Amino acid sequence: MADKKRWIAETLFDELGFRMTFQVDKVLYELQTEHQHLVLFEQPYFGKMLMLDGAIQISKRDEFIYQEMMSHVPLFAHGDARDVLIIGGGDCGIAEEVLKHKVVKRLTQVEIDPKVIEFAKEHFPEFTKPVFADRRFESIIGDGAKYVANTDRRFDIVIVDSTDPMGPGKVLFSEKFYAACRRCMKKGGVLVTQNGVPFFQRRELTASMTKLRRLFADASCYVAAIPVYIGGHMAMGYATDNKRLRTLPVKTIAQRYRKAGAFKTQYWTPEVHVAAFAQPRFIAELVAKAKVRG
Ligand code: SAM
Repeated sequence: MADKKRWIAETLFDELGFRMTFQVDKVLYELQTEHQHLVLFEQPYFGKMLMLDGAIQISKRDEFIYQEMMSHVPLFAHGDARDVLIIGGGDCGIAEEVLKHKVVKRLTQVEIDPKVIEFAKEHFPEFTKPVFADRRFESIIGDGAKYVANTDRRFDIVIVDSTDPMGPGKVLFSEKFYAACRRCMKKGGVLVTQNGVPFFQRRELTASMTKLRRLFADASCYVAAIPVYIGGHMAMGYATDNKRLRTLPVKTIAQRYRKAGAFKTQYWTPEVHVAAFAQPRFIAELVAKAKVRG
C-alpha cells in the first residue's frame, strides 16, 4: 500500500472559507517557539517551505520575487542608501539581496525569533552564508517595534519583512510602529512594508495606507504576484517624505542599476520597478480610501 503522504494546510484564510494545502515530502521541523508555531517542510514542487502560525512565509521556488521587490525597489528609488534596517526577515533572503548593493555600508536586521534564523542557517544557507559572512551585517534578536522606538541610529531605508498582523507581527502594522520607524529614518528615507494580498486582505491595505499617509508626505503601495502568497497581487507598502522618488523614470532607475554593477536578478528590472507602482483599479481604490495627511 502506497505510504500516505501528509498534506499541510495554510489556515491564514480560514475565515474566508478556503485553505491552500501542500503535499509534504518531509517535515524538517515542527515546533512551538517562544513566539509562534513553526513548520519547515520539503514540498515536491516548491522545495523547502517555512510556515509560521499557519501562514506560508517563504518557498525556495518563488522566494526571489518577494525578496527582490522588497529590497531593490526602495534601494534604487533612494539611490544612495548607506544605512539599512530590516525588521523581521529571519530567513535572511532580503538581507542577501540588500547586500548586493555595494553602496550599503551597514545593514541591521532585528528578528524576534532566534529559531527562524537558526533553521534558516541550516536550511537556507544560500541566504545566511553570504549574509553572516558579510561584515556590514548586524543581526539583533528582539522585537522590531521596541527597537525602532528606542534606537538612536538613523536609517536611509527601513524594510519591514514581517509576518501577517497576528501574533508577534501584529504590532508591526500599528501607527505607533510606523511613527517610530519614521523617527529613526534619515531625511528622504524610504520605508517599505509587507502589506498582504489586497484581494483577500482589503481592510489591512486601507488601514496601513491611512496610518502611513498620516505620517509621511508620500505613501502608497507597489505590487507583485507571488505564487505562494495566494490571491494574485501582493501589496508592498511604500512611504517617504521625498515625493520625487516614487515617480522616477525607467532611465534613472536603469542608470542606478548599471552604477550598482547590474547584478543578476530573476524578477526585478528597472521596467518592473516602475510598472509595479501602477496599481490595478481595485487596489488603487483601496489605497484611495486612505485619509490624507491633516
Ligand atoms: N515574507 C514573509 C511574509 O510575507 O509573510 C515574511 C517572512 S519573515 C520570515 C517574517 C519574520 O518576521 C518572522 O521570522 C517573524 O519571526 C518575524 N517577526 C514577527 N514579528 C516580529 C517583531 N515584532 N519583531 C521582529 N520580527 C518579527
